[in-house]
Amino acid sequence: MLFRLKNFINWVLPYQCLLCGKEAEENAIFCSNCFSKISFIEQPICSICGRMFEFTVNDIEETCNQCSDGTRFFDMARSLLHYDELSRQLIMKIKRHSDHITACTCVKMLHTRYSDILERCDLVVPVPSHWTRLLRRSYNPANIIAIELTKISGKKYKNVLKRSKKTEYQRAKSIIERINNVLDAFSCKFDLNGKSVVLVDDVMTTGATLNECAKVLKHAGAKKVICITIACTRALCFNFG
Ligand SMILES: [Zn+2]
Ligand SMILES: [Zn+2]
Repeated sequence: MLFRLKNFINWVLPYQCLLCGKEAEENAIFCSNCFSKISFIEQPICSICGRMFEFTVNDIEETCNQCSDGTRFFDMARSLLHYDELSRQLIMKIKRHSDHITACTCVKMLHTRYSDILERCDLVVPVPSHWTRLLRRSYNPANIIAIELTKISGKKYKNVLKRSKKTEYQRAKSIIERINNVLDAFSCKFDLNGKSVVLVDDVMTTGATLNECAKVLKHAGAKKVICITIACTRALCFNFG
């Protein structure tokens, strides 16, 4: 519906870049200047969390130092964009303004890139917001992305997780503080009985929130948990061990 509306607007007005608002080429989502600056996730990446390494690696099974200690509950995480100023702008449009056209655009790109992963899953599950945050913002960006992803993939959406503890914002916290902040913050409302789950959020930084959610999903019986986010930060360090 929103895409049709955008097509109609573009029939009347020139195509506009989602990022800068300047005129874009026909059927283009971004102007050539913005598109050249978008940083898509590319190899080499950590084989578990999917974050980009700063330098080349010899083994595609290589993991970053955060994934090498065996404390990851998710089986794999994959993202579309490197988290930088441009991807932050896109995510803020979804987060602060509930911008569905931006959400649909990002989800379309995510689906194109990771259709094989989505094909093998049973459920698409969003990382939940605490109800007090929903009162203030009225929507959960992870939920918008998860719903759009189910529409485009035909997979089943299920809001199985509940955020039972109100957590502080993760931004200024260290990795250890982030892990403790989200510890026991989630619960699962259903028995997942061997299902493969795609867990959706907007951004992955340290992965502490996604990991805690994955832990709860696995305890509820999920066979596999794969995290999908629009953007993620770079791998902090290569695993030399
Ligand atoms: Zn632009
Ligand atoms: Zn990793």
